[in-house]
Amino acid sequence: MKIGVYAGSFDPITKGHYDVIKKSLKITDKLIVAVMNNSNKKGWFSLEERKDMIKLLIGEDSDRIEVKSFDGLLINFMKENGADIIIRGLRAVSDYEYELGYAFANHDLSYGEIETVFIPAAREYMYLSSSSVREAAMVGARLDIFVDDKIAEIVKEKAKTIKG
Ligand code: ADP
Repeated sequence: MKIGVYAGSFDPITKGHYDVIKKSLKITDKLIVAVMNNSNKKGWFSLEERKDMIKLLIGEDSDRIEVKSFDGLLINFMKENGADIIIRGLRAVSDYEYELGYAFANHDLSYGEIETVFIPAAREYMYLSSSSVREAAMVGARLDIFVDDKIAEIVKEKAKTIKG
C-alpha cells in the first residue's frame, strides 16, 4: 500500500491545495494531509482550525484521506505513519528552487528511502496562495475564486476578528 503525505500550512486550505489532494489520490492508496505546526510562520488559524477546515472540505469525499498534524522533522512523521512518498504542489518557478532543496534534504535524511513527487498546480491556481486569500479577506474582496464557499465564510469571520 502506497501512503503519501501532503504537508503544508493550509492557512487556510485553498482550491489549489484541494486540487493537489484530489490528484494525489490517483497515485497513492492512502493520503495523509499533514498540517504543520510551524510557530515561525505567522498565520491566522490555529492548528485545530486548519485541520477542521480540511476535514470540512474533504468530508465524506474519501476514506482514503486522513488529516493529521505534525511537529518537527517530516521524515520522522513519515516513518511513524508508514508513509513512502512526500507530495508537494508546484506553482511558479519560484516554488521549484525551494521545493527542490527540501526534496534533496528529505531524500538524504531518510537514507534514500523517501521520494518527493511534485504535482503541477492547475493553471487557474498557479498564483494562488493562502496568504493571498488572507490579503483578499482583509480588504473584503471576493473569495469564491480562491476557496470553497464553506471555507470563505470561516475566513471572512476570522478577518473580522483580526480587524477588530
Ligand atoms: P502556501 O502557504 O504557500 O499556500 P502551504 O505551505 O500551505 O502553502 O503549501 C503546501 C503545499 O501545497 C506546497 O507544496 C505548496 O507548493 C503547495 N501549494 C500551495 N498552493 C498551491 C496551489 N495553488 N496549487 C498547487 N499547489 C499549491
